[in-house]
Amino acid sequence: MPIRAVAFDLDDTLYPEHAYVESGFAAVARAFADRLAAPFDLLDRMKALAASPDRGRVFNMICAEARVAEPDALAAEMVDAYRRHVPNITLFPDAAAALARLHGRYRLALISDGYAVSQNAKLDTLGIRPAFDAVYLTDDWGRQFWKPHPRAFEAVMQRFALPAPACAYVSDNPAKDFVAPNALGWRTVRVLRPGGVYADATAPPGGEPSATVPSLDVLEAVLAG
Ligand SMILES: [Mg+2]
Repeated sequence: MPIRAVAFDLDDTLYPEHAYVESGFAAVARAFADRLAAPFDLLDRMKALAASPDRGRVFNMICAEARVAEPDALAAEMVDAYRRHVPNITLFPDAAAALARLHGRYRLALISDGYAVSQNAKLDTLGIRPAFDAVYLTDDWGRQFWKPHPRAFEAVMQRFALPAPACAYVSDNPAKDFVAPNALGWRTVRVLRPGGVYADATAPPGGEPSATVPSLDVLEAVLAG
């Protein structure tokens, strides 16, 4: 059955996620420099922590190292500022080209996890909402509906009135992205760019993509195959 609907992931599929992390750290550093009065460069320290085993608690570490009075409360404020910042991000060139090429030839959807406030800010900055016939931010339904929950994939089929074999999902992280669409019977395509955040991620049972491409420049070849 030919593919008639293509759903895309957002982070590291359509734009480089490292750019979001960097713009978030820069925004937090600007907003909190005065209150932290840290004896080190905030932005440099955040980047170093993000590349360390403490990458999951960058702001807690910063507050502890700066010896602030109430580190947990301030770290929570920093997390919130990070998630709400207006990001400085742009589409991968091959993603912009692919969305333009596929427009009008396929029904196009976006399926993305992540905090809704952050994902909405990314979509606003990228200006790509008009590129899609449907946008599903799983966080709008709640954390339990993030991938690998199938709800967003079922919503795409219902919205476009298409069976699973007519749908494809294009994404970057085999650890969680392909389990649900594979189980439904979608075609799944992994974009594997050098240096991607999940370039080394491995798939759980049932999570292997149907095809892997080095960039979205060759997407139609695997959609047709
Ligand atoms: Mg992703």
